[in-house]
Amino acid sequence: MAHKKPFLPTKICVTCGLPFSWRKKWEKNWENVKYCSDRCRKQKT
Ligand SMILES: [Zn+2]
Repeated sequence: MAHKKPFLPTKICVTCGLPFSWRKKWEKNWENVKYCSDRCRKQKT
C-alpha cells in the first residue's frame, strides 16, 4: 500500500534565498508569493 504524503509546492524566497512551502494563507495568491515571510517582504536588498 502506497502511503501518499500531501504535496506542498515550494518556492525560493527572493530575499533570503531559502526554500519555503505553501501555506494556507497564500492559497489564493500563491503565484504572486515571492517571500517566505513578512520580514523578508519588507526587507528590500
Ligand atoms: Zn525569506
